[in-house]
Amino acid sequence: SNFIVGLTGGIGSGKTTVSDLFKEHYGIEVVDADVIAREVVQPGSKALAAIRDKFGASILSQEGTLDRAQLRTRVFADPALKTWLNELLHPLIREQMQIQCQQAKSDYVLLSIPLLVENQLQHLTDRILVVDCPEAIQLQRATSRDGVGEAQIKSIMQSQASREQRLAIADDVIVNDTDKPHLLTKVQTLHNKYKAIAQSI
Ligand code: ATP
Repeated sequence: SNFIVGLTGGIGSGKTTVSDLFKEHYGIEVVDADVIAREVVQPGSKALAAIRDKFGASILSQEGTLDRAQLRTRVFADPALKTWLNELLHPLIREQMQIQCQQAKSDYVLLSIPLLVENQLQHLTDRILVVDCPEAIQLQRATSRDGVGEAQIKSIMQSQASREQRLAIADDVIVNDTDKPHLLTKVQTLHNKYKAIAQSI
C-alpha cells in the first residue's frame, strides 16, 4: 500500500502553498480533507439528505446545495447537533481519504488534514509533516488572504490545536517564515527524504 505523509498546520501557516509545491514540482498526489468534506455533502449524497432531514429544508440553498454558513452557525449554537453532524460526516470523510490515498500513483501521497491533531487522525498516516510559523505571520497571511479582521482569525486560532501540540506529533517540520523560493528548497529536501523512504519499504 501507499506511503502516506500527513500534512497539517494552523490557519494561514501555508499548508496549501506547501502541498502545491509538492504537486507542481514533484508530481506528488495530494488528498485534501477539506475538499473531501465538501464532496461528501454534494447534492444527491446520502449525507446531504440526512442533514436536510435533521435541520429542515431551509439548510439547502435554492440550488439544493448545503448552506455551509447556516450549518456552521446552527452547529456552533448547539453542541448536540455538532456531535450528530461529526458522527455522520467523519466516518465518510475518513473512508474517502483512505480510498483516495490507496488510488494514488505517485511515489508517496500527501494527506492534507488541517485538523489532524484536533480530530486525532495520526493513525491514518505513516509520517507527519507540520507546517509551522509564528502566530503573528499566520494572522497577517490569513487576514490579507481572506480579507477578514484579526479578531475572527484569532478566534479560529484559539479553537485550533496550539503550535506546541502540533509540533509534539511532528516527524518533520517546515518552518514557513520567509519567502516562497526559500520554501521550495525545504520542500525539495523533504521530497528526497520521502521518496527514499517510500522506495525502501
Ligand atoms: P488555511 O488553513 O487557512 O486554508 P493554509 O495553511 O493552507 O491556510 P495557505 O493558504 O497556503 O495556508 O497560505 C496562507 C496565505 O499566505 C496565502 O495567501 C499564501 O499565498 C500566503 N503564503 C503562504 N506561505 C507564504 C510565504 N512563504 N511567503 C509569502 N506568502 C505566503
